[in-house]
Amino acid sequence: MKKRQFIKTASALLTGTALSPLISCSEEKKTVNENITNWAGNLTYSTTKIDSPKTSGEVSAIIKSSKKLRALGTRHCFNTIADSDARLLSTNELTEVGSVDERANTITVGGGIRYGELCELLHNKGLALHNLASLPHISVAGACATATHGSGANNGNLSTGVSALELVTGAGDVINLSRATDQDAFNGAVVNLGALGVITKVTLDLVPTFFVAQIVYLNLPIQQLEEHFDEIMTSGYSVSLFTDWQSDSINQVWIKDVTASDKPILPKKEFFGAQPADRNVHPIIEISAENCTEQMGVPGPWYERLPHFKMGFTPSSGEELQAEYFVPRDKAVAAIKKVMTLREDLKSILFITEIRAIAADELWMSPCYHQPSVAIHFTLKQQTEAVLRFLPKVEELLSEFNVRPHWGKLFTISPATLQSRYQRLDDFVQLMKKYDPEEKFRNEFINSRIVPASPQSI
Ligand SMILES: Cc1cc2nc3c(=O)[nH]c(=O)nc-3n(C[C@H](O)[C@H](O)[C@H](O)COP(=O)(O)OP(=O)(O)OC[C@H]3O[C@@H](n4cnc5c(N)ncnc54)[C@H](O)[C@@H]3O)c2cc1C
Repeated sequence: MKKRQFIKTASALLTGTALSPLISCSEEKKTVNENITNWAGNLTYSTTKIDSPKTSGEVSAIIKSSKKLRALGTRHCFNTIADSDARLLSTNELTEVGSVDERANTITVGGGIRYGELCELLHNKGLALHNLASLPHISVAGACATATHGSGANNGNLSTGVSALELVTGAGDVINLSRATDQDAFNGAVVNLGALGVITKVTLDLVPTFFVAQIVYLNLPIQQLEEHFDEIMTSGYSVSLFTDWQSDSINQVWIKDVTASDKPILPKKEFFGAQPADRNVHPIIEISAENCTEQMGVPGPWYERLPHFKMGFTPSSGEELQAEYFVPRDKAVAAIKKVMTLREDLKSILFITEIRAIAADELWMSPCYHQPSVAIHFTLKQQTEAVLRFLPKVEELLSEFNVRPHWGKLFTISPATLQSRYQRLDDFVQLMKKYDPEEKFRNEFINSRIVPASPQSI
């Protein structure tokens, strides 16, 4: 079967899922070298046409001369959200760093800058961001477009740290939206799924720099988690649970806490029945921890502790797939118990699960919109068919919690169900019409999952 024919067939079989690239990629990877793939290598983008503008003016000129295009950040999404069959606009040259606005406590940066490139610079000025994701290699605008998050029951996702945006619209107009002056449109535009235009500049809220110490505990009994979930998830500034679901314990609890001391923080003798690790560990205990951020209570700047992985270690690609589901925080224990029933299904396909807490927010397309949330994440092996069988199962099991998937990861929830779980979806579609009336930024992902089907086509 020819490559394109194969993709079409696979897509037809999987209509309504975000998984067709999983099947197409292995064929494409073998045959075409010049094509562009995502970080995980499971998706070959549907065009090789890619531009890297350096200024908002250049972005505007490209948009004006294009019928269809999509912005592309650091390519860390696992599904087709960033894909285009016409043209990609890479933001890798949009990395300008503006000066700090000391009155507003903000900094404006190019949308393509990676968090890791910005953090040290901020720290050296005595400043910090409120939180970071598990790795610092992702672009600021790309992460915020998909509501990327770290952990911490009181920490909103990274998009909540945005106070203003420069957006180049479908008409090529350069406009500014800010939390202070455009509240409604702004709340709709931060988690934009790449569907409103190209974010050329992002203004980020700043806080005074802070130091964090990280302690890991091993083997937390599930029963303790059930009985003390809130206490555990609020036991630090940022808390992550890692488990392979294969025992009645959570394998690891990573607690990242703010400290004013320059001396190592000593762990508790035991933490709800879990024991302190006696060395740095990787979330998968068999793997060397050399790429992980420092643990054992040793204090360090926020940007060297809040991510799990070091910026200096640059993974160029990863043989993995990811899926992640958000449930209301008060339903998290029930959801975790449901996932435990999938132990056998997970045994051969899972690398590791991470469970994190995220505060509620006001951003229309955020999975945490008006909902304090817990995200249950799966790092899966690149075993396409088995993953395809697993995702609908877990989605069905968690459907009673109106589970919302991570926008940048794999999911198979039907478009109608997905849309019903976003109260402001219609408003977001109106925003798409306003800023992109010619539908230049609509790709297959946006058309099939975000835009409600017209009554005739139901
Ligand atoms: C190893 C790994 C670890 C991860 N860890 C986490 C984690 O801890 N927490 C979490 O929530 N997620 C995590 N993710 C997911 C990741 O944060 C998201 O996929 C995020 O979108 C990546 O940003 P990007 O720049 O690579 O986006 P891309 O994949 O390049 O693009 C994502 C979307 O953003 C749009 N976009 C990008 N730039 C712009 C722009 N300038 N203007 C308008 N639209 C734009 C694209 O069109 C696309 O729709 C992880 C992913 C990987 C591979």
